[in-house]
Amino acid sequence: PCGLSPQLAKTTCPYCGVGCGVDIRVETDDISKERNLTQLKGTADHPANLGRLCVKGSKLLETNSLDGRLLNPTINNRTVSWQEATQHVATKFKQIIEQYGPGSVAFYVSGQLLTEDYYVANKLMKGYIGTANIDTNSRLCMSSAVSAYKRAFGADAVPCNYEDLECADLIVFIGSNAAWTHPVLFQRIEQAKKRNPDIKIVLIDPRQTGTGELADLHLAIKSGTDTALFNGLLQYLKQQDSLDQQFIEASTQGFDAALENAKEWSVERVSEFCDIPQEDVEAFYSLYAKSQRTVSAYTMGVNQSSSGTDKANSIINCHLATGKIGKEGCGPFSLTGQPNAMGGREVGGLANMLAAHMDIDNPEHRALVQSYWQSPAIPSQTGLKAVDMFDEIQQGKIKAIWIMATNPVVSMPNRGKIESALKKCEFVVVSDCVAKNDTLALADVALPATGWSEKNGTVTNSERRISRQRGILPPPGQTKHDWQIICDVAKAMGYEKGFNYLHPAEIFREHAGLTGFKNTGDRALDLSTLQSLSDEEYNNFKPVQWPLNAQNPKGTARLFTDGKFYTASEKAHFIVTQPKAPEIVVSSEFPFVLNSGRIRDQWHTMTRTGKTAELTGHIDRAFLHMHPLDAERQGICEGDFVELMSSSSEMHNDTRTGSKVIMPVKLQTQQRRGELFAPIHWSATNSSSSAIARLYSDAKDPLSGQPELKHTPVKVELC
Ligand code: SF4
Repeated sequence: PCGLSPQLAKTTCPYCGVGCGVDIRVETDDISKERNLTQLKGTADHPANLGRLCVKGSKLLETNSLDGRLLNPTINNRTVSWQEATQHVATKFKQIIEQYGPGSVAFYVSGQLLTEDYYVANKLMKGYIGTANIDTNSRLCMSSAVSAYKRAFGADAVPCNYEDLECADLIVFIGSNAAWTHPVLFQRIEQAKKRNPDIKIVLIDPRQTGTGELADLHLAIKSGTDTALFNGLLQYLKQQDSLDQQFIEASTQGFDAALENAKEWSVERVSEFCDIPQEDVEAFYSLYAKSQRTVSAYTMGVNQSSSGTDKANSIINCHLATGKIGKEGCGPFSLTGQPNAMGGREVGGLANMLAAHMDIDNPEHRALVQSYWQSPAIPSQTGLKAVDMFDEIQQGKIKAIWIMATNPVVSMPNRGKIESALKKCEFVVVSDCVAKNDTLALADVALPATGWSEKNGTVTNSERRISRQRGILPPPGQTKHDWQIICDVAKAMGYEKGFNYLHPAEIFREHAGLTGFKNTGDRALDLSTLQSLSDEEYNNFKPVQWPLNAQNPKGTARLFTDGKFYTASEKAHFIVTQPKAPEIVVSSEFPFVLNSGRIRDQWHTMTRTGKTAELTGHIDRAFLHMHPLDAERQGICEGDFVELMSSSSEMHNDTRTGSKVIMPVKLQTQQRRGELFAPIHWSATNSSSSAIARLYSDAKDPLSGQPELKHTPVKVELC
C-alpha cells in the first residue's frame, strides 16, 4: 500500500520444540517508520515444518500485542530507571555473595530464553560468581532424557531427526500426545501414513489422546509401568531371534547383563504388571520385531517420573539390541517441549553441566572452560537442580535468586512450598516480558525483557537444528534483551571484561568457538565452523543441525551412522533397568492418580495464547477427566465441581490461593479407572483455582532431578 514498504522477515515460532520457521510480512510506514506485522505463514523451506504451522503458530500475530507487557523496571513495585535497577541487583547480589559465599545465590532460567541469553547467564554464574547454581525449567521437561542419552551414548545427543519419523515403518509414541504437543511434526507423520498406509503407529499412554486417533494399536498401560513393557520387549526380541548380534558385538557393551535382567519379563507378566491384555502386548512386540525401521518418540510421560531416566534407557536398550539406531527411519527420539530446551543444554543451562556439553566433574573440561572465558572462577561441584534449589531457598541457604522468563510458582511442584520459599528469600529478581504472573507477584525487582518478534538470537529444536529467532520489532517501552540485562548486571558487579558484547552474534561466535575444543573427542556438540561467522552471515543464518564442523560442513542429520558412540570405548551402553514404583503411591486417603499435561491450543500459563478467542475457544476452562464408573462411585456427575487434594497440598497450605484445586469434571470413558487427567495451563493470575502445581509432590528422579509430574495421588471430593 501507498506509503508502506513491505518486507519479509524470517523467524521461528516461540512455542514448542518442533521449531517451525515463520515468514512475516512487515510493513513500515515511510514517514513514522513504525513497523507492523501484517501477515504470517510457515516458512516453505524451513526443514522443520516445510511451510506448515499449527493453530498456535498461525495465531502468533493475533497474540503479539503490548497488552499485559512489563515495560519498565521496578523495585518493590516502584518504577525506576534501568541504571537504578541494574545497580540495585548487582549490589544486592554482591553483598549476599560477600557475606554468605557464592553458593548463597542462584539463577533459575528457562527454555524460552535464546541460546545467547542462556550462554551469558551461565557464564556469569559459573565463570564469575563461581557456583553452578543455575538451573532451568527444562529440568521439568527433558532432564531424564538427557541423563539416559548420556548413560547410553556418553553424550546428550539426539540420534535421529524428523525425516526419520516419516520414513520409519513403525513409530512408537510413548507418553507423548504429539498430536497436541508437537502438532506440525504430527501432521508430517499423518501425511507420511497417508502416503504409505503400511506405516504402523503404536501409542503407549495410560490415556487415549489425539495421537491415538492415528494409532494402529493403543497400549493403555498402568501409569508408570513403561520399564516393564520395554524389558519384556527386550526378552521377546531375544526369543524371536530378532536381535542384531553384529551390532551388539561391534558397537555396544553390557548386553548380557541387560538381557539377564529382562528375563523375568514374560509377555504374561508384562500383561499383568502393565494391566493391559496379553494380545496387545504380543501385537506390539511382534510389530517391533518385524519392523526394519523403528522410531520411538517419547516426551513427558516418560521423563516426568521418579524413574524417568530408567524408563528412557529401557527404550534405548531395545534400539541398541536391534541395531535400530544411526540408520534411516530409526532411533530413540526424545521430543523436547520448549522452543530452546536443547539450546540451553548446549551452553550449560543445567546445574550439572558446563558450557559446550562439558562436564563439571571433569577437571580438564573445567580448566578448558575457565581458560577460554579467562574467568576468575569455575565450580568444581554440580549446582542445585530445580527442586533442590527451591528447597534451599526455603531453608534460608539461598538468599538471592534471579528468575528469568519462567513462572516457577505455577510450574514447579509443590506450589505452596515455592511460594513460601520466595516469600522468605531475601532478594528475588524476576525478568520477564509479562507484567503480571504468580512469580512476579513475589519479586523485589522486576526487569522488563523483550519478547518474541523483538528478541534476536538462536534456538535449537528437537532434532538438533539451530534456527534464528529474529528481532523484527523494536524493543517496546524500556524493555531490553535478556542477554543485555544479564551483561549489564555482570558489568555492574565488576565483571566488565567478560560481558562487553554489543550484538548476539558475538555471543554466538564465542559459544561456537568453545564447542571446538574436542581433544578428548568426548562430545557430540560441535559448532566449530561457526566461530568465524560474520555478523551478516549470522543475520542470514539458515537452519542447520549440529554437529557442524570440517567433516560435516553442512551439518549432520543423523548420529552414530558409523556405529561409534561418545563413550570412552566408543560403544553404546546397555543399562540394567527395573520398574520402580512412583515415590508416592495411592492410598485409601489419596486413591486416584492425577496425570497432567498440555491442551492443544494453549501454551504454558497462557500469557500469549490466552489473548485470542480463536485459541481459548478450543477449551476455555480447566477440567478434570475422570472415568464415568469412578465418578459414579463418588456420586459425581458430568460438570460437577470437585476439590482435589494431595498429601503435598495439605502439607504446604498455599496461603494466597488456598490449598485446594477446584475443577469441573468431564466424564471420559477412555480415561483409565483410578486415574485422572487435568491441564497445566491455569494459574492464580488467570483467575483460577485450578492451578494444579500445588498438588504435585517433590518426588523426583534421583539421577536427573526431574520431578514426578505425571503421578500424583489425590483425593476427589464434590464441592
Ligand atoms: Fe509453533 Fe510448535 Fe506449532 Fe510449530 S508445531 S507452529 S513450533 S507450536
